[in-house]
Amino acid sequence: MDADVAVIGTGTMGSMALWRLARAGVDAIGFEQFGVGHDRSAAGGESRIFRTAYKEGPEYVPTLLRAYELWRELEAESGRDLLTLTGGLMIGDLEEGGMRNVLASIERFGLSHEILDGTQMAGRYPQHTLFPGEAAVLDRLAGVLRPEFAVISATLRARRLGARVISGTPVVAVEPSSDGVTVRAGGRDYRFAQAVITAGPWTARFAPELARRVSPRKIVMTWYMADDPAAYVPAAFPIFIREHRGVGMFGIPSLDGGSVKVALSDTYGDVGDADDLDHNVAPGDLATVNEAVAACLPGLVPQPIRVSAHMDAYTTDKHALVGALPGARNTWLLGGFSGHGFKMAPAFGQIAADLVQHGETTLPIDHLDPGRFLTV
Ligand SMILES: Cc1cc2nc3c(=O)[nH]c(=O)nc-3n(C[C@H](O)[C@H](O)[C@H](O)COP(=O)(O)OP(=O)(O)OC[C@H]3O[C@@H](n4cnc5c(N)ncnc54)[C@H](O)[C@@H]3O)c2cc1C
Repeated sequence: MDADVAVIGTGTMGSMALWRLARAGVDAIGFEQFGVGHDRSAAGGESRIFRTAYKEGPEYVPTLLRAYELWRELEAESGRDLLTLTGGLMIGDLEEGGMRNVLASIERFGLSHEILDGTQMAGRYPQHTLFPGEAAVLDRLAGVLRPEFAVISATLRARRLGARVISGTPVVAVEPSSDGVTVRAGGRDYRFAQAVITAGPWTARFAPELARRVSPRKIVMTWYMADDPAAYVPAAFPIFIREHRGVGMFGIPSLDGGSVKVALSDTYGDVGDADDLDHNVAPGDLATVNEAVAACLPGLVPQPIRVSAHMDAYTTDKHALVGALPGARNTWLLGGFSGHGFKMAPAFGQIAADLVQHGETTLPIDHLDPGRFLTV
């Protein structure tokens, strides 16, 4: 055996899995096709939202609360600031499905919050235009994560705790059998007791039976200049998510004192093969986000000063794939995080370490079982 565990892909989830495995004393090797902290897939792009009153469903809240603790733990271990709490505004019609999930998360887990009507919003957060029927839920346990620092911090910490990382080395095959797992990379075969596949946009390559259910989609980040930059700094401008005329969008306060990230939550379409992500963004593709900015955030100049293209793996139900790789008992899959996985990454790293060590975890993952797609 080369080590107990192989981690395939040391991006967001892989770096966290490696950290949690190393911290538990498990001998692990991470394989990464690019460099540590690269920006060619789902990490990168300066910032990520953290929030706990979860429009995607209250079943995520225990994982989100555990992630919060682990973000603080990683900050303490690495000496880096990774998460800045700003609060988070979830804006919309309180009767609509996503907002009902926000309220259900709050009720079920007693999350600290406030509900603000249009008049209260105009007084406290005049940066936003609210439309008739809209209100805001302020989630106090919400803020901004720094993705590049996070991935690098987890990887360096894992290394310091004994993990090895082989970067610049694509894994070409993962072959589970009854007596271990063979990993083919860099022209040789490595042997492990178990493997964790965290290949992000490349997930389907390692789980061909799920290929119809998970695929890479393009996500575009856009930054806008503020008329009054002081009104958009983290202390004044909570992260937000909202919909406008059926278009989902989110925003993050200015981290450079001038530009504000506001981007579509919806994707810019299928990438096809993850190797083929087109980093160009045609000006016409920005019309929807520019219109939403003009309508909802009148203090921003509605032409982006900065644009960057990324991708994430999306499943057909927008819930991730977390559990045993179909047909294998010693290989675990964590992928398909569908544009909302970063905030939970250290908790999923913990889940990976739990699965490796115990075959189960106390965090709720039943709704993420990859097997759900094999029975329909
Ligand atoms: C622009 C953007 C904004 C987002 N905003 C938010 C947000 O605000 N909040 C939030 O919670 N989530 C957000 N998300 C989603 C979140 O970032 C992703 O869900 C998460 O990063 C996915 O992590 P991952 O580990 O699955 O993928 P990745 O981070 O891409 O990691 C996969 C890794 O596997 C490596 N790999 C793949 N194949 C191989 C191979 N054959 N051999 C070796 N290595 C391989 C890749 O190179 C990569 O490093 C956003 C995503 C994007 C793209």
